[in-house]
Amino acid sequence: MTTLITHGTIISATTSQLADILIDGDIIKDVRPNIPHDQASRIIDATGMLLFPGGIDAHTHLDMPFGGTVSADDFETGTRAAAFGGTTTLIDFAIQPKGTRMRDALDTWWKKADNRATIDFGLHMIVTDLGECGLEDMDDMVREGVASFKLFMAYPGVLMVDDATIFKALTQTGKNGALICMHAENGGVIDVIVQRALAEGKTAPIYHALTRPVTAEAEAVNRAIAMAEMAGAPIYIVHLSSEDALNKVREARDRGLPAFAETCPQYLLLSVEELNRPNFEGAKYVFTPPLREKHHLPKLWDGLKHDHLQVVSTDHCPFCFADQKVLGKNDFTKIPNGGPGVENRLQLIYHHGVNSGKLDLNRFVEITSTAPARIFGLYPRKGVIAPGSDADIVIWDPCAKHTISATTHHMRVDYSMFEGFEVKGNARTVLSRGDVIVDQGRFEAKPGRGQYLRRSARGGAWV
Ligand SMILES: [Zn+2]
Repeated sequence: MTTLITHGTIISATTSQLADILIDGDIIKDVRPNIPHDQASRIIDATGMLLFPGGIDAHTHLDMPFGGTVSADDFETGTRAAAFGGTTTLIDFAIQPKGTRMRDALDTWWKKADNRATIDFGLHMIVTDLGECGLEDMDDMVREGVASFKLFMAYPGVLMVDDATIFKALTQTGKNGALICMHAENGGVIDVIVQRALAEGKTAPIYHALTRPVTAEAEAVNRAIAMAEMAGAPIYIVHLSSEDALNKVREARDRGLPAFAETCPQYLLLSVEELNRPNFEGAKYVFTPPLREKHHLPKLWDGLKHDHLQVVSTDHCPFCFADQKVLGKNDFTKIPNGGPGVENRLQLIYHHGVNSGKLDLNRFVEITSTAPARIFGLYPRKGVIAPGSDADIVIWDPCAKHTISATTHHMRVDYSMFEGFEVKGNARTVLSRGDVIVDQGRFEAKPGRGQYLRRSARGGAWV
């Protein structure tokens, strides 16, 4: 099948151009004005529309076990919701349980996605233990296209690894070209503060935020970057939430270090007061790092604008309020950590970033698609509208108005963190490798069509 998208304005990370796009099968064949219509079997008129490379969400947790339950979206519902929002690639996280081989974890996550994913996906590997074979396993994963590893400086006894493990893993990526993604919070300190709060009978959701100070994040970001510098490896900080942590990344980048960081819509748009909602509803906003005081928000937007932050991802990790969040009714430490967001990333960043004048269109495309493609070894297959790239294209209606709500979203979760938020600008038609998968609110893709993406090491912007 050949498809011609006509008269749209194509936005890249650097340019905006009124042109047509010719697609042959999965791949973009030509991009230029006035491509003759007889070259295509299907014509899509995109007059008045913006054309973005498909969104790339580099941080999701589908079908993920946590605290005795499992995140509410699986690879079918999660990738479908992503598609509705204009995201055509996810990078999810496989988890290596302590004492096991990474290959087994990869197999487990491949099975979770098999016959379910409706868009293309890659996998990071969460390393909980290097054991005897861990460094070898990391090289093995890189050969399988798992070009990034996530380590935790938080959650002692569950996911946290010590500095020696972090340094060894960083050193290995210095050799094999993969990238370490760091959950940077000082877990040891936080645990002491948490135990103290519980002993004082402080069990409400708000204490989740009050026991995880920004200094614990900033300290860990600083330490992670220092260890990466000593190892001679790049580093990527996930879900950065505060000005204090941002300053550490900015200082490192100013010194020329290959330090990168992402933030998420919730840290840009919501603040700690949400956790004080009555009737336990604050639990809807329990995730880590926690929401911060309001004064951090403009600093994060500013960081995005000036490339101190490179990526917006979602950390999509939904748990239903009615039967999952409630596990922590009497103890905030038992509230499953995570919130839904994979469907709303482009809407929220477009409306609050582009419409409000905080970001230009090119920067919008860069932080939602091009930069994650480059950093995670998918570029130029993904992240750009150009001949030879996958035909992952969002036909974006800049005038479409939409009210975000759990009653209309496609994520399999019973609430929205952004309930009632009104946005202007939404995906009208979404193509993944040449297939129209969403068109004007209709879903047209089959589960299982999404492909596993083998990502390249050393694909990152530091090379
Ligand atoms: Zn996460």
